Amino acid sequence: MNIVSQVKENGIVGAGGAGFPTHIKLASQAEIVIVNAAECEPLLHKDKEILKQKTDGFLKGLKVMMEAVGAKKGIIGIKAKHQALIDYLKPLLDYNTELFPLGDFYPAGDEVTLIYETTGRIVKAGTLPISEGIVVNNVESILNMGFDGPVTTKFLNVAGYVKRLNTFEVPLGISFKEIIEYAEPTIADYAVLVGGPMMGRINDDLNEVVTKTTSALIILPIDHVLVTKYNIIESQKKVNKIGKSACDQCTICTELCPRYLLGHPIQPHQAMRSLLFSSEDGQINQSEPHTLYCCECNLCSFISCPEGLYPSTVCINHKRKAAADGVKYEGAIANKAHPLVDYRKTPTRRLKMMLDLNRFDDKGSLANFDVQPRHLKLLLKQHIGSPAKPLVKVKDIVSKGQKIATVVDQLGSEIHAPASGQVTEITDNYIKISI
Ligand code: SF4
Ligand code: SF4
Repeated sequence: MNIVSQVKENGIVGAGGAGFPTHIKLASQAEIVIVNAAECEPLLHKDKEILKQKTDGFLKGLKVMMEAVGAKKGIIGIKAKHQALIDYLKPLLDYNTELFPLGDFYPAGDEVTLIYETTGRIVKAGTLPISEGIVVNNVESILNMGFDGPVTTKFLNVAGYVKRLNTFEVPLGISFKEIIEYAEPTIADYAVLVGGPMMGRINDDLNEVVTKTTSALIILPIDHVLVTKYNIIESQKKVNKIGKSACDQCTICTELCPRYLLGHPIQPHQAMRSLLFSSEDGQINQSEPHTLYCCECNLCSFISCPEGLYPSTVCINHKRKAAADGVKYEGAIANKAHPLVDYRKTPTRRLKMMLDLNRFDDKGSLANFDVQPRHLKLLLKQHIGSPAKPLVKVKDIVSKGQKIATVVDQLGSEIHAPASGQVTEITDNYIKISI
């Protein structure tokens, strides 16, 4: 079996974001492989822990990936502030791989920003990194390529108000509840933020389970500023109503937008202007196709806007609608960096201060996860593309690593049993294994 088929067979997807199937990336030829080790959101540490504690597997995966795409060069983009880790990795790298020390700003890990920072190249709006001869992958997906077996576990951070502020490797399909109980929250009334502080979401059911893209569970007081912000952006009507009455078109959201600064046509203040044409119930009638180029980093809402408005939510809602309606952007595209791009980066320390995150211990060393779950619920859609179709029936006995669902030749990911046990339930959404 060739490497692309092997990666597909092992069910490897991007270990964060939308979970793009990795084998698709490997099918291209590229000049450069960039490892996204920026981990630019505060409180997240799992990638640094993988680089430190799973170095051999990571380096093997990087070699596999570079060979698969025929890359002549590898670049690991990691923040300069992690000097000890850089010093540790440097002597272990092949001659054709280098470490690129990134500044401590957000969103250094945005793919377009990372490529610009590490190579000076600009990925043109509406194109993929491969158009610049580049493939980007994150640390955990690369580790998974260095492991000769299917993906059945996930590395994630537990952060915020917990005793065990750690990175854990947990089985796929385990419930958030079991992980949080193990981490021991130190407050009674808490909300759980799934993912990083900037691009996460509030969880509303602790029975939700870990998938191949779950990167963090952050325990916060229910009145924390981030929880309040996430609760507001849940309501399109509320966001539009506040924005319509309070946006003064100062354009700061646009002037600090990382994609705008790299010449993409996104202009959040224009999306905010469209609210003037919204109806009483908050429905926007105007189309704003430039929002198709928003990377959803939330910088404009959580940091940039001096009025505390939510331009990113307005952009994202427009973006979804434009994509669903098949609307294309037909205006001018600069595709070159703004002359002030280097002076308009948002420092992480400012972000932490504004989001009241300075109070948390910023650590997350890899620790044992000493929990034996009785059931695992494997979602059939843990990735972009089509849901997988079960290959097993209720009452079947499965062994650890056995393939239990497949996407055949559709875009998506194969699913494997994280533990031996018996299949006790199959629905349209999941396969439950009792151990
Ligand atoms: S920064 Fe805020 S007030 Fe200024 S244009 Fe953007 S949304 Fe409006
Ligand atoms: S969320 Fe805001 S700052 Fe981020 S890319 Fe979209 S418009 Fe720009």
